[in-house]
Parts: sequence; C-alpha cells; structure tokens
Amino acid sequence: MFSKILIANRGEIALRVLRACRELGIKTVAVHSTADEDAMHVRLADEAVCIGPPAARDSYLNVAAILSAATITGAEAIHPGYGFLSENADFAETVEAHGLAFIGPTAEHIRMMGDKITAKTTMEMLGVPLVPGSDGELKSLDEARAVAEQVGYPVLIKATAGGGGRGMKVARDASEIEEAWSVARTEARTAFGNDAVYLEKYLDKPRHIELQILGDNYGNVVHFGERDCSLQRRHQKLLEEAGSPAITAEQRDTIGKTVTDALSKMGYRNAGTLEFLYQDGQFCFIEMNTRLQVEHPVTEMVCDVDLVREQIRIAAGEKLGYTQSDITFSGHAIECRINAEDPDTFAPCPGTVAVYHAPGGLGVRIDSALYTGYKVPPYYDSMIAKVIVHAPTRAEAIARMHRALDEFVVEGIKTVIPLHRRILADPEFQKGDYTIHWLEQFTARPH
Ligand code: ADP
Repeated sequence: MFSKILIANRGEIALRVLRACRELGIKTVAVHSTADEDAMHVRLADEAVCIGPPAARDSYLNVAAILSAATITGAEAIHPGYGFLSENADFAETVEAHGLAFIGPTAEHIRMMGDKITAKTTMEMLGVPLVPGSDGELKSLDEARAVAEQVGYPVLIKATAGGGGRGMKVARDASEIEEAWSVARTEARTAFGNDAVYLEKYLDKPRHIELQILGDNYGNVVHFGERDCSLQRRHQKLLEEAGSPAITAEQRDTIGKTVTDALSKMGYRNAGTLEFLYQDGQFCFIEMNTRLQVEHPVTEMVCDVDLVREQIRIAAGEKLGYTQSDITFSGHAIECRINAEDPDTFAPCPGTVAVYHAPGGLGVRIDSALYTGYKVPPYYDSMIAKVIVHAPTRAEAIARMHRALDEFVVEGIKTVIPLHRRILADPEFQKGDYTIHWLEQFTARPH
C-alpha cells in the first residue's frame, strides 16, 4: 500500500479523497492555486504545495507543477479526482513515466474512451447495445442523409471529441440535416479542434442511466448497479438517484452482466462508468467515463462501499477480493448538487459564505469543503456541496432530503437549494416519472 498520495484536485472531491486516505493510514499532499490558500483541503492535508495562480490552466491543469510537487514531497501516487486532469491520457502516461502510480485506468483505456467513435465501436464489439446510428465517422453530408433515412428522423449529429453537451445538433427532418451537419462540425472544430462527427437516432423520451464498475489488475470486474441521472439542465446533472425508479432488479442484473463481461474482456482497471440512454426497455450505450464521478456517493450509500478506498487499493495492486454476488443493494439514495447559482437564472454567484450550517441526522451525508467565512472563488466550478441521503425506500429518501435541505443554511451567496425543494415537492418527480427533458421544462414553468 502507498504511504503518501498527492491529490490533484480541489473542493469537495479533494476532501473526499483525503478522507479515504486518512482511513487507510496514508499521508496526503494537497496542491492548490493562490486562490485556494484558505481552502479546506489545504488545511486538512498533511502537506500542501502551491502550484500556480488562480486560472486552472496555470494550476490544477499544470502538469509540470503537479509532478514537481509529487517529487519534492515524495508522494507515490496521484489521485486526479474528477474534472481537471482526470481524463487526460497524456497526464496518466506522464505520471507513470515518472515512476508514480496513477489512481485510475491505463492511459490506453482513457484515450480509447475519450474518442466517442472508438468507444462506441469497442463497446459494440464487446456486445454492449448502442443507440442506432452511423457506423463510425460520417464522411460526407450525403452519408449523413443516407444514415438518417435508414435509422429514421429525428437524428442527432455528435462530435467524436465531444464533451459537456457541445458539438451536438438535432435534425428533426430531412430539411434540417444540412444545417445540423455543418453547425455540429463547426462547433466541434472550434471547441475541440477536431471536426469528426457521427450520427445517432435522437431518442425523444430517454432516461440517463449509468452503471458504476470497478476492475482490478487481474481481470476481475464487478458492477455496483445503476444511477439515474436524468435530471439535467444543459447536460449538467443536478439530482441523481440510486437505484433508478424505472428499472427492475432483473434489468439491473442483465445490463450489469453485459457490462462486466465487456470490461473484463478489455482488461479494464479501476473505476469507470458506462452511460446509457434508456427508453422503451432498451439500454443504449452513449459514453464511458474513465474516472470517479461526482454522483458516486449514491452508489456508495446503497452498496455500502467506499469507492475511493477501492480505487486506491486497486492502484496499489491489490485484488478486488469479492465477487458480484457479494455486492448487495439496500434502500434508496438521492444526491442534490448544491451550486452557488441563482436558483432561477442559474447565474453563478461566488462570494463570501456569511453563515454555514450543514444538516445532519440519520442517513444524511454532506460532501462539501465549505465553512463559515469561506470565500467561494469565481474561477472554478460552481458546485459547493453535495447533500446525499439514504433511506429504506424512495419515498422516505425524498422526505429525508426535504428535511435535510430545510436544515441547510448557506448565507451570503445564492444557491440552488430552493430549486431542489421545488423538484422534491413535484408529484411527477415523486412518482419517478421523468426523462432527460423533464428538468428543462420544469425550470421554464412559472412558480
Ligand atoms: P457529452 O459528452 O457532451 O456529455 P453525451 O454523449 O454524454 O455527450 O450526451 C450528453 C447528453 O445529451 C445525454 O445525457 C443526453 O441528455 C443527450 N443525448 C445524447 N445522445 C442522445 C441521443 N441519441 N438522443 C437523445 N439525447 C441524447
């Protein structure tokens, strides 16, 4: 096992990793920008190294500074968290070339899944079902037309290098295909420097359901069930649940087996998430994230597992030590992402937290790096806390989340807590009756 780990991240996820390290008896090194000198992860780590000015490209994305920090502190491994360098294959490669362990998958697998066409063709070969669409990259507008006719309108043109919902355009019928083709390509070229696009059938009422997996270095792969992340605004998830209100235990077992078979054939190691669109009883793979996800705590609550601890153990060369039948699911968990944003306009709202009081009690977990007097900097993601609840049933989890949000005090800045309260009180949400389009429509309603 490692004796010291450098955490190449900030905010709640840096704390999350730090806590797992501490329980394993591992020393931690925090890295931080000049804007984060007073951050909680810096205060709680055993050592801290300043790696640059506020802008992420000069600090949290500064590979040379991070590697120097690891070298001078004698860290043996780097945990990248999510975002920043977590899905950067070159970073993973460089870390290993410096004789350190990267707490994540191989650079090869990160690269493979970072290109969506390669990801889809690989998964298809391994028996994972896809959204119907083009066979890889579209070479011409004529090919786009032909494939669209074949799968049927509406269709979606997507960038192979895509991320964050950019480089994606819908064509509702044949008259829109030319524009969708050129807009998607232009956006892809500008955002990612790569204008390769592919086509998928546009699903009109899907849910976003994803499967959490872990693999070790010895070919063992297990899954920890699904998370329903359909509540999204501009492709950003806001509230997640485990399990999904839409699927049965049998469906979970079936898709889980398909996924674990595929990933063990690939020799995939460490944590990963396969994202699917689910509609009319069918799972359609859209992409794989080769890292820990923001919403991993809902899985931890229902499976009683510490996913970060498992990531560290795997990176240290340990075997999983359990099989699929040892993983059981208990109760229901919900996560609300609390962003420092206006709950109606979603304008970011950085500033000083005048009063901070976190909820507690049975089945409530808060992952946050906030404290009274903390100044939320304007340079990074607006998510400032995650409230996670666990209860025997979904209805009890909803009641518990209501209660927790009522106790939560964050004064001095605006947050989306009022929006979460409205969602939790909505009868459709309470029935579990929603798709990926539900939240956009909900936030547009007068209230
Ligand atoms: P990104 O990497 O940019 O987030 P994804 O492929 O994960 O791109 O898609 C992001 C979101 O776009 C999905 O969560 C879903 O809401 C929507 N989406 C993607 N593909 C389709 C599709 N074929 N039909 C309908 N919606 C889709």
